[in-house]
Amino acid sequence: MMSDNASYRTNTRLIHSGTERSPFGETSEAMFLTSGFVYDSAEQAEATFKGEAEHYQYSRFGNPTVSMFERRLAEIEGAEACRATASGMGAVHAALLSHLKAGDRLVASRALFGSCFWIVSTLLPRYGIESVFVDGHDLDQWRTALSQPTAMVLLESPSNPMLDIVDLQAVADLAHAAGALVVVDNVFATPLLQRPFELGADVVVYSCTKHIDGQGRVLGGAVLGRAKWVEDVLQPFIRNTGPTLSAFNAWVLLKGLETLALRVDAMCANAARMADWLALQPGIRRVWYPARTDHAQHALAMRQMSAGGTLVTFELDGKAAAFEVMNRLRLIAVSNNLGDSRSLVTHPATTTHMRIGAEERARLGITDGVVRMSVGLEDVLDLQDDLGRALTGLSRLRAAE
Ligand SMILES: *Cc1c(COP(=O)(O)O)cnc(C)c1O
Repeated sequence: MMSDNASYRTNTRLIHSGTERSPFGETSEAMFLTSGFVYDSAEQAEATFKGEAEHYQYSRFGNPTVSMFERRLAEIEGAEACRATASGMGAVHAALLSHLKAGDRLVASRALFGSCFWIVSTLLPRYGIESVFVDGHDLDQWRTALSQPTAMVLLESPSNPMLDIVDLQAVADLAHAAGALVVVDNVFATPLLQRPFELGADVVVYSCTKHIDGQGRVLGGAVLGRAKWVEDVLQPFIRNTGPTLSAFNAWVLLKGLETLALRVDAMCANAARMADWLALQPGIRRVWYPARTDHAQHALAMRQMSAGGTLVTFELDGKAAAFEVMNRLRLIAVSNNLGDSRSLVTHPATTTHMRIGAEERARLGITDGVVRMSVGLEDVLDLQDDLGRALTGLSRLRAAE
């Protein structure tokens, strides 16, 4: 059910949507740290379980703080319904496993977050679900893969870590013709930069751990979609399998949403400046950033996103050079997280994308020199000083070799 807040603009919704005050009239959302709820009478309990009375039953099924977060995110995204989960992977897992059954077929873009890749390549086939990978940027591959009946499509755009772009509208059209539900992992774009429902997506999933918290505190996830699908397909799965978001984490994520636009705008501005600066530095072979005109899918990226995002990927001269630069950083931390207010760098080949193997990495263009930077909220000049110092050290080292 949409509240009046649905008519407000996004920046207002980020702060006000979904808020439901208790009789105490608290300013900030209340944190309902309770596992269960009590009824006025046995009759009320009976009516609640029959679905004839509206009353919270048990926090695995629903909790007022979690509901506020779900309603706020749904209104921001323009979705009919939302269910929050304990992590992003809880969201992806619930979206896929609630819908698919043995004998079904799923088509996915190859460039997926590591654990999503594992679910599609390893877990689903164990349950008799056929999974097919395509190169996300190649519409011919999508067309071929979707020329037969398909239950679901899963894709990520921009992808991790090479920031490949998938044409959401074109893939959604092909997917719908094949009978598939389209699931978009919108983590890299955030709810603010890309609106997958307007481009044909049926389901959008988030790791709220990333930009929505964005301050390194809690894990969380969310699945958004049409009310009927959420209530009939997703909710029974979540209710009975238990990947529920805690009320405390929901409260932290509500606070995160209040500042999401401020943080994402500032991080995007920093990321764009870092990308342009990195492209001019000696020792950098290549920079990937969707808002730069040298990105292979720049036009498509700018058609479906309102900014380039908060991640920049660049390539150094192999693993030794990448490690050397990362180890020389003093301000920017080495971490596999992203979307944080702190700037973080990752070496995908040896961390997030280690398990997929060398052959799969080569297909995705993840060389040993690739470094992914999640650009934070620091003063961009300090970030440039830090990376500049690390790169200068590198060239001195290499000159001495
Ligand atoms: C982090 C991430 C996930 C998984 O989320 P968790 O909260 O870590 O479980 C899924 N997809 C993408 C694109 C991510 O970046």
